[in-house]
Amino acid sequence: MAHHARDIIQQRRSRERGAILKSAPLQVALTYPSPYNVGMSSLGFQTIYRELNGREDTVAERAFLPDDIAQAQQDRDPVLTYESLRPIGDFAVVALSVAYENELAGVIQVLELAGIPALASERDPRRHPFILMGGPLTFSNPTPLALFADAVIMGEAEDVIHTVMDTLGTTQTHAQRLDALAAIVHVWVPTRHNETLAAIAKCERLPAFSQILTPDTELADMFLIESERGCSRSCTYCVMRRSTNGGMRLTPADDILALVPEGAKKVGLVGAAVSDHPKIVDIVNTLADRGLGVGLSSLRPDRLTDPFVAALKRGGYRTLTTAMDGPSARLRMQLERRAKVEHLERCADLARAHAMKTLKLYLMIGLPSETDEDIEECITFVTALSKRTSLALGIAPFVSKRNTPLDKHPWAGIKVVEGRLERLRKGLRGRADVRPTSARWAWVEYVLAQGGAREGLAVHHAVRLGNRFADYVTAFEAIGITEQSKRPRRALGVLRDESTP
Ligand code: SF4
Repeated sequence: MAHHARDIIQQRRSRERGAILKSAPLQVALTYPSPYNVGMSSLGFQTIYRELNGREDTVAERAFLPDDIAQAQQDRDPVLTYESLRPIGDFAVVALSVAYENELAGVIQVLELAGIPALASERDPRRHPFILMGGPLTFSNPTPLALFADAVIMGEAEDVIHTVMDTLGTTQTHAQRLDALAAIVHVWVPTRHNETLAAIAKCERLPAFSQILTPDTELADMFLIESERGCSRSCTYCVMRRSTNGGMRLTPADDILALVPEGAKKVGLVGAAVSDHPKIVDIVNTLADRGLGVGLSSLRPDRLTDPFVAALKRGGYRTLTTAMDGPSARLRMQLERRAKVEHLERCADLARAHAMKTLKLYLMIGLPSETDEDIEECITFVTALSKRTSLALGIAPFVSKRNTPLDKHPWAGIKVVEGRLERLRKGLRGRADVRPTSARWAWVEYVLAQGGAREGLAVHHAVRLGNRFADYVTAFEAIGITEQSKRPRRALGVLRDESTP
């Protein structure tokens, strides 16, 4: 059945444009802990692929978590790279990009499927690859990775990755590597630093852009380009806010337009605050003039004006998606969001005026100090808004993240979140389509966002048990965390028992 995995890879490869085939002494399996369609939509993943392959001494080949893990486990499929169909266990380095907390399960699964022990303490450096990690999770709290990673690059990795590769290429023993990597400012080496993280790196080499185009993702054949990086705003729950992430850095409009390759049909403008680019309307219009479809990764409601929505319509928009953030005006203030009632009303009018099918609004519930009154206000407001245009609400439970002002806020509780969702659903029946994400998995995310090595180890346990939600409940209970203990203890240092208070 291993043939099946090969067939899928070969089929996908035959439809890709831009894959890099080369040979070099330092071999890296750049592995994404989610399936192909997710990994290939990650601009960070594509950028590191280009950076690594741009080095004379290095070749990077891609691998992904299989689409159907249970099947892959049953068939004992190896995890193969897309470029040369070699098992990732044969590479000197496996580099993993981790986007968010709940992807830790994918990290464990992909390594173990490949025959590489997920726990660093169970690996033999003479036989197993060096495990390097990085990715968006490092902006908030990567400490749950402590027992799995040999080293972690913190923050924007385009520059640091070269120092790391130079070090890996020139050191001999595993211990020497760890010592040398631990001396690099933006590299966190858990066995050397314990849970004290290294500083987050910032890179000024904008923009990141797609290396490989493929029809096999949700963003099919879309050329992704970073129109800005970071954000100038200060929303209190967000790790991308200006104080954490070095502020907003723009890609000049001409550079964006010049980088779009011949043959692209769609262009995705990526960034934390794309609609804050001062030239955004011109950029979208110019791309539409060239007959290209356009997608933006984020639209702030206070930025949406008539010419902007007209440009988006020309670029192929049929659904206008923006953020309502919190259920009530009071909570939106608390989040330091600039979205006001009048902005959201204007968005609804613009959606209608430009014949959009739907206005989709994202918001969080389970926010600190939220009560049923806030939910009632949401129902009243959205009901009124639904008279202006067709509406959908994308609702996610609030999860408190480190490196934000709302860090350490307790979890609202699965029952509370589900109760409020039910209230919204009932109150808005026939008026707005309510599409929530899971409250249960948000709790898992919360435990990891606030936890450390010990919580990471519990995920290892849960994966062993079957990776269902009930398995996480069991695994967390075993370390004294229940959903009722709303405030999990900060990591107590599996790695440094002596420091436990
Ligand atoms: S939520 Fe969006 S607008 Fe607010 S700080 Fe984060 S990236 Fe910026």
